[in-house]
Amino acid sequence: MKFADNPQQATEYLRQAIPLMIKNRVPPNPFNYALWYAYVSNALPELNKQMDKTLEIYGTCPNLISEKLFRDFLINDEVENAEVIQNALLSVMGDLESSASSTMQDTEAYNEVLQDSLSALKDSSDDQSLETIIQKLTVNTVTISESARQFQKKIDEAQAEISTLKQELDKSRQDATVDPLTGLYNRRVFDAEISQMAADSEPDVSLIMVDIDFFKKFNDNYGHQMGDKVLKYVAKLIKDECSEPMIPVRFGGEEFCILLPGMSDAESADLAEKVRLKISAIRIKQKKTGEAISSITASFGVARLAPDETPENLIARADAALYKAKDSGRNNVQISH
Ligand code: GH3
Ligand code: MG
Ligand code: MG
Repeated sequence: MKFADNPQQATEYLRQAIPLMIKNRVPPNPFNYALWYAYVSNALPELNKQMDKTLEIYGTCPNLISEKLFRDFLINDEVENAEVIQNALLSVMGDLESSASSTMQDTEAYNEVLQDSLSALKDSSDDQSLETIIQKLTVNTVTISESARQFQKKIDEAQAEISTLKQELDKSRQDATVDPLTGLYNRRVFDAEISQMAADSEPDVSLIMVDIDFFKKFNDNYGHQMGDKVLKYVAKLIKDECSEPMIPVRFGGEEFCILLPGMSDAESADLAEKVRLKISAIRIKQKKTGEAISSITASFGVARLAPDETPENLIARADAALYKAKDSGRNNVQISH
């Protein structure tokens, strides 16, 4: 058996052999490297024929057959061609260092075995030591493949765990920022955002405060559960009117607010009026008859952040405007000047 064993040719054969091995799901052990090296070099047409037949039958080259082919075609010739095989194995092993998968490359222990094998192959002159080296490499290749599999398994498990943790983290983040009943941002987000906007001296920051009118009476009349439904519905109406970067918040109880960066108080008053009209169009119907039994209204206070104003002062002014709206008959919008 003759291999074209100048280094460039040997490297080229190896480059062709490895993708073929991957494609045919052949495990990366020394028998296979030598076999597939021989296959792409076309040095042994009979070997190629038998390998093609094996692939046709099994769709891969099972280990037992690989070993037999290795012995029949490569080892038997080894007495005459010991040097050739040694060279072939040398180039296979030599290139293996750079061509093996990254896990294998990263495994120092395996590299050490390869290095040892390379030196041993360089020195070896009899079949016995060559076989011993091949066996040692086989054992180590199996070990490294197994450790790569275990490593992959650990990575998969870690990924699953990370994804669970991420979900939990997302949920706790959500819990920390979102009001569970209405899905609007909670007071905590509001406090943080308004403080930030005031600290940054953002121009044109407005605040709308909303308070549902006579909601205690509504609860007394229709029950707390129905009250909750109304709160959810009002929250949805508010949310639907808010686009980025507006921040709709459940301020507490039956009170909501909207933070509006980049909006004049006139624009904010327009938005408040729009929401007011939508809320006042809500009709509570009797389930059985479908007859409207009640309506909902809310009062609004609007204020615009003045230069150097504290968040507390802005909230107090919006609140004062809201109480003015209550005082002037409810279901209306008042602006703080
Ligand atoms: P006003 O027009 O002056 O705002 O009158 P009001 O009755 O709305 O005001 P008040 O502050 O007296 O009552 C607020 C009511 O809102 C009392 C409380 O039962 C109700 N409420 C607060 N939070 C919730 C909630 O989460 N669910 C329900 N169903 N009701 C709530
Ligand atoms: Mg209130
Ligand atoms: Mg109220």
